[in-house]
Amino acid sequence: MSKFLNKKYENLEVYTPGEQPQDMQYIKLNTNESPYPPSPGVIKAINRPEIENLRLYPDPECNVIKEKLAKLYDVKKENVYLSNGSDDILNFAFIAFTSGETTAIFPEITYGFYQVFADLNSAPYKKIPLKEDFSINYKDYCNAEGMVVIANPNAPTGISLSIDEITEILETNRDNIVLIDEAYVDFGGESCIPLIKKYDNLLVVQTFSKSRSMAGARLGFAIANEDIIKDLERIKYSTNPYNINRLTMKAAEAAIDENDYYMQKCSEIVSTREKTAFELKTLGFTVLPSLSNFLFVKSNEIDGETFYKELKSRGILIRHFTTETIKDFNRVTIGTKEQMEVFIKEVKEILKERGK
Ligand SMILES: *Cc1c(COP(=O)(O)O)cnc(C)c1O
Repeated sequence: MSKFLNKKYENLEVYTPGEQPQDMQYIKLNTNESPYPPSPGVIKAINRPEIENLRLYPDPECNVIKEKLAKLYDVKKENVYLSNGSDDILNFAFIAFTSGETTAIFPEITYGFYQVFADLNSAPYKKIPLKEDFSINYKDYCNAEGMVVIANPNAPTGISLSIDEITEILETNRDNIVLIDEAYVDFGGESCIPLIKKYDNLLVVQTFSKSRSMAGARLGFAIANEDIIKDLERIKYSTNPYNINRLTMKAAEAAIDENDYYMQKCSEIVSTREKTAFELKTLGFTVLPSLSNFLFVKSNEIDGETFYKELKSRGILIRHFTTETIKDFNRVTIGTKEQMEVFIKEVKEILKERGK
């Protein structure tokens, strides 16, 4: 820290991203990336002419992607916002809708960035504990006094709320923004995008990072009432209007055109997830009911940190959290069928070495 840093950032607790090791090849099941490459059209879209076009600024309005997404989700172009990863959108939402005045309300166990963005933007926040079974009690968010932020499915539990429960939250918060982060919705959840037509307080955030195999390209999108989108654009045009680069735009356009490819990969991940969950339960693990591309699991024999370290020494990375209430859980991203077979094999070895 230099002596120049603004005092208000001195105690900021930053987000800790999952490991992105550069030292060796791991089976990487720690940051919920897709194990599959982008679709063929994406690979063709990043070509020499497009690389030569990098000398030009990109379209700040992202017209082509907006039109394609609007068509895909049956909304208007004016209902779509795009930004450099959905983290960027979440930050912008905190800037636009909280910043010192409005409280942000989110679960105690959820995506770590919500608290970071609240702190960064000096927003008061209230963290609501999950139920005993790690699910969200939607009633805790009805008649909230501030902006509601919920990941659905939640991370790192993978557990979902139903559309009826979300509707109830929207209905009882007509004067509050309700931000639903659907980063994992394509893995079996139900999107609440159609509800934007009825609720002008709903802000749905999604990303190309997980189900669309583009974590490295950085693209997130939001769908909401036109006025909310204008608010987000206002923040974007006050920071960096060109926050999506040309190559990412080309890749995303091709990806939307090949939506079926991604939905097919998602359903493969879903069946691998179910198989992996079944095998882990057979081995005596507690496995939360996930509708995402990861499983939140606890060994009944080995503590969470040891389990993580044992797997790492065997070339498999999973995500361990140090938060007290979940320290014996680990989050395991669903890889390919083959990767998960290796994972289960190694888990069996670890248990065997301990005489279990
Ligand atoms: C991965 C993730 C994001 C961030 O996605 P990017 O688009 O890569 O910034 C947002 N919310 C949740 C819940 C996530 O797990």
